[in-house]
Amino acid sequence: MSPIKPSAHLSEVRYEIRGALTRRARDMEAAGQPIIKLNIGNPGRYGFATPPHLREAIATHLADSEAYGHEQGLEEAREAIVAQQRARGASQVDVERVFVGNGVSELIDISLRALLQPGDEVLLPSPDYPLWSAATILNDGSPRYYRCLAANGHLPDPDEIDALVGPRTRAMVLINPNNPTGAVYPAALLERIVEVARRHGLLLLCDEIYDEILYDGVPFQPLAAVAGDHPCVSFGGLSKVHRACGYRVGWMSLSGDPARTAEYRDALQLLAALRLCANVTAQWAVRPALLDKPTIGELTAPGGRLHEARRIVLEGVAASPFLDVVAPGGAIYAFPQVRAEALPHFDDTAFALRLLEEESVLLVPGTSFNLSASRHLRLTLLPEPAQLRDVFVRIDRVLGRMAVE
Ligand code: PLP
Repeated sequence: MSPIKPSAHLSEVRYEIRGALTRRARDMEAAGQPIIKLNIGNPGRYGFATPPHLREAIATHLADSEAYGHEQGLEEAREAIVAQQRARGASQVDVERVFVGNGVSELIDISLRALLQPGDEVLLPSPDYPLWSAATILNDGSPRYYRCLAANGHLPDPDEIDALVGPRTRAMVLINPNNPTGAVYPAALLERIVEVARRHGLLLLCDEIYDEILYDGVPFQPLAAVAGDHPCVSFGGLSKVHRACGYRVGWMSLSGDPARTAEYRDALQLLAALRLCANVTAQWAVRPALLDKPTIGELTAPGGRLHEARRIVLEGVAASPFLDVVAPGGAIYAFPQVRAEALPHFDDTAFALRLLEEESVLLVPGTSFNLSASRHLRLTLLPEPAQLRDVFVRIDRVLGRMAVE
């Protein structure tokens, strides 16, 4: 009997954050070896509890959650999302153009599926959050990467983006604050990027899932507020800022000239209707999350756990003879790199495997984020401080061995 063959599409798709290294780590754990995990941005696994008022809202509304809901999401949730966006200057957002999904992950796929024809191009950051590349490919599009280099503070160059636009380019994806780099884009840069999108008629897709996780007073500017009447989809969710990854709740809001976005809005609605609705129970947490007591600031302010983790990572890098890093302005990751002078021949994937096998530390190499010839490593800021300090000792031990081999 011939084997069941998967879709050929999948041969181009990677998601190494949960890939071969993770499987190897699971095998090591099953064999009794404890692993220090810095690979997944899953706050709940590291003792960051979901704020109690979100849990309470879900418990209170359990009995109201037994029927299918509106395909775009609960009215209460969408109203809260609109209020949040408008308060930030995104005046064009309205409840008819907000979609709640089972995580931002589902909505990334829907937003691209509603847009792309075979051969269309999407401008994506390199490094990217790899679901954006995967969803582009799975929906028949081709990624065109613009670089966000460490030498430029991991910020994109609008002139480079402009030069990459071709006749088949349909959309431009931004991730701000960025995963994996932690870069937060200044308002003036966003204005230049919007200007490029306007000139070429590109849809803007802005993944802002880390919008309130910011360090040292770095300001966050929502893209929709800058884009004004230009078509833009902004993504947010409960997973990170509200430490509720397991609830699987995200949202996207389409803004810009209603006449220009009407057909695309209808396509989004059709795709949302085909999957009936997002998990209704968890959507009850959206309104309290957005309107009552945001608490993430306590974690990112001096003395807070994320702030301390970031400080430890910056100290660990500064003390290392091998590493340097652009200090993350936001999100829950650092993206240090191994300096070429310290180790001229460096393969990030081979290193990550050695770090796992020799020192029981699991992190994600930069190439997993669609960054070619990467010398980078992504680590999360989520483990306890003592463990994070220890990680740098272990990283330097492996790099030290590699330097003399
Ligand atoms: N977008 C970015 C940039 C992410 O880092 C993640 C998860 O790590 C997601 C989207 C997916 O979020 P969700 O849990 O809402 O599906």
